[in-house]
Amino acid sequence: MQNIRPQFPILKRKINGKPLVYLDNAATTQKPKVTIDALTKYYTTNNANVHRGIHTLSEEATTQYEHSRKTISQFIGAIPKEIVFTRGTTESINLVARALGDAVVKPRDEILVTQMEHHSNLVPWQQLCRRTGAILKVLPITDEGRWDMEQLGRFLSSKTKIVAVSHCSNVLGSINPITATTRAAHSHGAVVVVDGAQAVAHIPVNVRVLDCDFYAFSSHKMYGPTGVGVLYGKQELLERMEPVQYGGDMVNAVEWFSATWNDSPWKFEAGTQDIGGIIAFGKTVEWIQKIGMDTIESAERTLTLHLLERLNSISGLTLQGPNSTINRIGVASWSLENIHPHDIATILNDRGIAIRSGHHCAMPLMTRLGVSATSRASLAVYNTKKEIDELAHALDHALKIFKPRVTVDVPKRNLWQH
Ligand code: PMP
Repeated sequence: MQNIRPQFPILKRKINGKPLVYLDNAATTQKPKVTIDALTKYYTTNNANVHRGIHTLSEEATTQYEHSRKTISQFIGAIPKEIVFTRGTTESINLVARALGDAVVKPRDEILVTQMEHHSNLVPWQQLCRRTGAILKVLPITDEGRWDMEQLGRFLSSKTKIVAVSHCSNVLGSINPITATTRAAHSHGAVVVVDGAQAVAHIPVNVRVLDCDFYAFSSHKMYGPTGVGVLYGKQELLERMEPVQYGGDMVNAVEWFSATWNDSPWKFEAGTQDIGGIIAFGKTVEWIQKIGMDTIESAERTLTLHLLERLNSISGLTLQGPNSTINRIGVASWSLENIHPHDIATILNDRGIAIRSGHHCAMPLMTRLGVSATSRASLAVYNTKKEIDELAHALDHALKIFKPRVTVDVPKRNLWQH
């Protein structure tokens, strides 16, 4: 989207003398001027701690902080009381594992994840199982990189207490069938926790439509500042849960040997939060709303189609994940001949192109795919078809470097002489 790009100052940078082509958006997106200005404005004119002061600055900061909560709640179809501010998706998921998991999960209960989970939505559940004696179940994926929904029924039972799944894969790009899964999980009485880290910036998300119980996401993957995340939780569940961190602001009354808690969501926000970051995140979400999630989704679908076409045209490239734009975001992982992904990333970086290589914090998924690492390009709303073309040219170039053709015709007998 042409009018969007100039709003991102960093995109004017050159890397190794070449214009930056930033295709590592699944790791973190770049920030628009709106976000940067909101941070600067907060520290220049509003900085104060929230909820505690009577003075003007504190009241202003509190109003803006709570306004962000309202904006973000509306963005995902929730109410403000259902929005807990955290440091990111990882902290949000850990919060549920501790606050809900430790309270309800008993020995031999089951927790269901899928083969495509990021470590952030796997390790907290492994650890919960270790603490409680519960059993971790893993729903397989198909060779196309989708959840194997035919098997879902076999993995759910009255023993299933928590179903923890990603909305979109950070490796395969698949958009997963949350609503159907939630319905099936709820029919067995399980609570559904959704890792929305890769979804919220790319597709419209409405937690009421998904009917999930929890939804976790990070500001920095949706054009907002780092250090801020959200845990959406259904109000009645948040109210029933105990806090996991204790300290200032999350209490109601404190005596020497006991304390009572503030209402939720504040009881989960112990200590001083990243106030400036949260306010700037709210402004970022308002900026996204002005563009419109439908517009963003359709612009990115066009780019994704182009990305898939260009990657498919490179000989020796094996794409992981769905090979169409249906139920898919603009995250594409691949293997190229037997060239190590780190080498590809290095060659691309020489040309100013930023992609990611490695296991993408999904090591068990790499095992399922039969690789140790992949290269990954991931799109955002400011990317262009031209940038994707440059990626494809650079991959062709990498192939040439690693597969040099023997152009000198050496007579055969010479080869055998030594
Ligand atoms: N889940 C998924 C699917 C992710 O892609 C990421 C970030 N790579 C996370 C969770 C963790 O997000 P954060 O590091 O912001 O906590």
